[in-house]
Amino acid sequence: MKAGAANIEQEFSIELNLNAFKIRKWLNHRAYNFVDTSTHNLETVIESTLRKCRARNFTPLQTACAIRPMIGLNPRQAAANWKFQRTFVMYLSNPNPRRRRSMSKRNSISDEIAELLEKLEGALNYSLEQISQYARLLAEKNWVEEYNEGKYEIFRQAMELGLIGVCEKVWVTAEDEKVCRDCWMMSGNVAAFDEQFRDKQGNAVGLIPPLHPRCRCVVYYRRLLPPGLNDITPTAMSTPNTSPYLLGRVDPNDGEQLAAVIRHYEERISTQSIENAIIITAYGEVYHTTGDLNTVNPILLLGNKLNGATVTHNHPRDSANEYSFSGNDIELFMSHSIERLRGIDERFVYELNRNPQDSDVGSVTVEDMADGFGYRHFKVMEKAEELGIGYRRWRHE
Ligand SMILES: [Zn+2]
Ligand SMILES: [Zn+2]
Repeated sequence: MKAGAANIEQEFSIELNLNAFKIRKWLNHRAYNFVDTSTHNLETVIESTLRKCRARNFTPLQTACAIRPMIGLNPRQAAANWKFQRTFVMYLSNPNPRRRRSMSKRNSISDEIAELLEKLEGALNYSLEQISQYARLLAEKNWVEEYNEGKYEIFRQAMELGLIGVCEKVWVTAEDEKVCRDCWMMSGNVAAFDEQFRDKQGNAVGLIPPLHPRCRCVVYYRRLLPPGLNDITPTAMSTPNTSPYLLGRVDPNDGEQLAAVIRHYEERISTQSIENAIIITAYGEVYHTTGDLNTVNPILLLGNKLNGATVTHNHPRDSANEYSFSGNDIELFMSHSIERLRGIDERFVYELNRNPQDSDVGSVTVEDMADGFGYRHFKVMEKAEELGIGYRRWRHE
């Protein structure tokens, strides 16, 4: 809880830094009134929300949850979002009798967090809707371009400050009949935060909209990783034999967050041409390391930290991969008491765990037999049974 509080304290002192190099560069090229407005907006929004939270004796956690959906909104939208959140809270604090009964059992902190997250998700969805409406409004005033620049910069700084985690960009059109064909083609397109959007032909079209003059497209920033956790860079993923280094921390007891984090990193490493591994220790530290085409030996430098850890790694295309775990993988899992070991290649995800019930051992599908990728899979099944551990494999897109 201490670490969580520190994060929140940090959130309270967020201030858009106008001296940041990118902002300065941008100011030299453009009318500065929009940055001024959006900075002012962010400050006004946070200040007024803080005031309201204090008046209601919100806990730091409640306050943080109330503020998060407000980032990127103007004061008027923030007021609407606040009202939306309050409606939610009123409902939660004036439950009907049936809900009250289930609420009376609700006394642990984790229940409070679960409830707040539910509220936060609703408020975030609402804020997305508001942003898209705002884009339509701004288009009439020709402000979309400035809006996009300002918002990108705010998110960049909020990410840097650890207020929000790593985001990716989703291209959003104004979604009305006036949207041109080219923009429709971009709709829903996804790019990493620092990378350019690409059209269907693979041509780079820019970090953010517009696609053309009077384009009304905007960006939705989708949160990929929780705050406090860095992404892996393309350079880090392609540099061989990197010693394990810390990417950040996760809550090791939050299963849903853990699963999302693993999914995200696996998607990143699955296409690499050398082995990459992500290690989440029993205490929630997250490490990244790389090896070569067929091994990822630097992982051993983590020593005791592997005990109880969740580990995932990729088997590159054109490696000695046999669409399941190698003998070395199983040896690593056993001798370092790894809690869960996963592997991913261009076809399958496979997993070893410590629970023989949590396993597909013995249930061979016709598909496994027919597709020619089954030989090693059967061998690993036999081995898992012998060792009394869980093993399964499934396809991914
Ligand atoms: Zn457009
Ligand atoms: Zn392996």
